[in-house]
Amino acid sequence: MDRRRALLLLTAVGGLAMLRPSVLLAASADELAGEGQAELTGGNVAKALVLLHEAESKDPRNDRVQALLGRAYFQQGDARAALTHFTLAVRLNPEDTLSRLLADTISQFPLPAAKGGSGRETSSSRSRPSKLAQDAKAEREALAKGAGKSSRQGPWRVLVDAGHGGLDAGAAVGGLREADVALDLALRLARTLAPARNEVVIHLTRTADVSLPGWARAGLAGFYGADLLVSLHAARVSDPAAMGIAAYGFGREPSDALAALVARVENAAYGPGASWKSRGGEGLFLAAANNAVGQDRFARGLALARAFIRAIPAAAPLPTRVAGSAPLKLLEEADAPGIFLETGFLSNADDVAALGSPDKRQALAQALADALLAALRGEVKMPPAAGRG
Ligand SMILES: [Zn+2]
Repeated sequence: MDRRRALLLLTAVGGLAMLRPSVLLAASADELAGEGQAELTGGNVAKALVLLHEAESKDPRNDRVQALLGRAYFQQGDARAALTHFTLAVRLNPEDTLSRLLADTISQFPLPAAKGGSGRETSSSRSRPSKLAQDAKAEREALAKGAGKSSRQGPWRVLVDAGHGGLDAGAAVGGLREADVALDLALRLARTLAPARNEVVIHLTRTADVSLPGWARAGLAGFYGADLLVSLHAARVSDPAAMGIAAYGFGREPSDALAALVARVENAAYGPGASWKSRGGEGLFLAAANNAVGQDRFARGLALARAFIRAIPAAAPLPTRVAGSAPLKLLEEADAPGIFLETGFLSNADDVAALGSPDKRQALAQALADALLAALRGEVKMPPAAGRG
């Protein structure tokens, strides 16, 4: 956080005069892209944009430059420009899955009207039968209204991942699908925390019912430079007594039998992992942006999971279980500390009843938001170490 503040200050004081003229005169598009990427990673979007546009003028068909421009504009809150550059990046390099994913993600939001006048509408022609999906749509629109203001005051960056989606419904009981519950809660959580954007900025891995491979979710954590990844789920496990909110940090060994069950069920949905790390320029780009995170992220994720569970208000619509650790692939691969949240279990009748109610989901989202802020602020009083989760 201090480093980010310092960079902001430097920008304010030195501004563009700090650019080395030699960089602009002599460097190749790739060198400029590297410089731009470094600035972007440091949080200096304005400087990154100057470098990247210079790179673009030298090589307009460089897909990496276009992808980085997309990311820079996205960080700046200019979704329309970001979409343009991500789309170009995909056109230049159809293998650039991440740019494709981000273009898709951005285009799910209603964009502000273009200069010409005709604003893009999100397609409403697809039939959305379930009430939950309708709720999600309303939440998404409300969220989009509040989006676009990017405050770079050094807030925490939290990537909220709505588990499953698209072809992968996750668990399902009656008309309730885990993918829908997770999306609804993710959108509600983001909306609930929107007024606190000076303190915490929420990014979402998905904002609609779309498929998203596990590696992409893990990659997005690094892409956003997230301080924390929170993945939302409501699994169905073979133990019907399992109920309430359970939070896991990464651990090679499951902390108890339920943690082992959760890891088995959720890892099956994660799919093949680690591929993004080896993907051409994009993997390099992700890795370079985030290789400083290291193994500390596991300890940090686990500590945050414990603090988070302790901070959940007693009035939450679901009881809280103890936090634990589990060998979850998403947490292992994401370049950020992570909390894997089971926001209830669809194998438990009481949880199903609670998660099926919009009012209870809203109350749950509020409880999760409160707990998240308290955990990030370090407000949670923890018992002396050594106590088992
Ligand atoms: Zn799940």
